[in-house]
Amino acid sequence: MIRIEEIVENVARNHPQANLDLLRRAYLFSAREHKGQKRASGESYLVHPLEVANILASMKLDEVSVATGLLHDVVEDTLVDLDTIRQYFGEEIAHLVDGLTKIAQISNISREEQQAENVRKMLLAMVDDVRIVLIKLADRLHNMRTLQYLNPEKRKRIAEETMEIFAPIAHRLGMGKLRGELEDLAFRHLHPEDYRELAEQLEKRRAENEAFLGGITERIEAKMNEAEVPFVRVEGRVKRLYSIWKKLKIQKIELDQVYDLVAARVITPNEVRHCYAALGVIHNTWRPVPGRIKDWIATPRDNLYQSLHTSVIGALLPTGNTRRANAARAMTTTPSRPCAHWLSGHRKSKTPATFSIR
Ligand code: MN
Repeated sequence: MIRIEEIVENVARNHPQANLDLLRRAYLFSAREHKGQKRASGESYLVHPLEVANILASMKLDEVSVATGLLHDVVEDTLVDLDTIRQYFGEEIAHLVDGLTKIAQISNISREEQQAENVRKMLLAMVDDVRIVLIKLADRLHNMRTLQYLNPEKRKRIAEETMEIFAPIAHRLGMGKLRGELEDLAFRHLHPEDYRELAEQLEKRRAENEAFLGGITERIEAKMNEAEVPFVRVEGRVKRLYSIWKKLKIQKIELDQVYDLVAARVITPNEVRHCYAALGVIHNTWRPVPGRIKDWIATPRDNLYQSLHTSVIGALLPTGNTRRANAARAMTTTPSRPCAHWLSGHRKSKTPATFSIR
């Protein structure tokens, strides 16, 4: 079980001015009220609010959000009422807890009554503080990570709801990593056979993919330095399982034909011109695939995601490897992403621009 002091340290690192006593008080309160309750896993219930708080702390949220994570199930699952929360922890936390309790009621509406799109809209409309949604997403993430302890019927319902309501909301907020994990966890419970098969196939290629990505990222760093284009870092990533599975289904192709299975991303300092300069470096190094350049900076996606994507050919392959013609892809993110504001708090200027190669 994660210890409260680890969470406190994590918050203190990201928010040096934070009121850490608030976290310790919220922990003691939650521990007292949930005492004796158990999770479906048989563990002490307290594990859940602690893990939710830990997820929020690693999202770099403020101490008020993290404390609310510790308290989020108290009103719903114990005898404590909202007034008591207000009395002990103040109006701000009481407001967040209240918002979470209301959201919980909405997501109980069955899908026959409400289309997923409507539920998402309703949910976002009733929230006046984005932290409520972020805490809800962290709550759902931990519930999805421990879904195997529930009965099959509940598992299916929660996984479907995650796929249709919460993953799209995470996407909407520009939180790609969170969305990816929610989708993969839901996929695992909705299509266990396909999940296992795909995970096995990918595992077989893991060493190869890692070596390949290591080679690409090194090469890009060298080229960026050579061209004197500033960058924060170069990252490699393997496409997520659910994302691959969708592609295989829709395009009716095999894993070998997924051109963007591995990708690299260059994160540049927070200025659009550096992204375009990075794209120039990539195209100067490898031949771009015609028609695959996407300028999501000039025309941002509906979730305000902004980036450059490109695909480049062949030369990225390690010597002697004829596995597939590979491609590069670029992304840049500007500070206009709503969630980036929340996640980076007052350090707005640090929001990185990213650029990735596939
Ligand atoms: Mn919960």
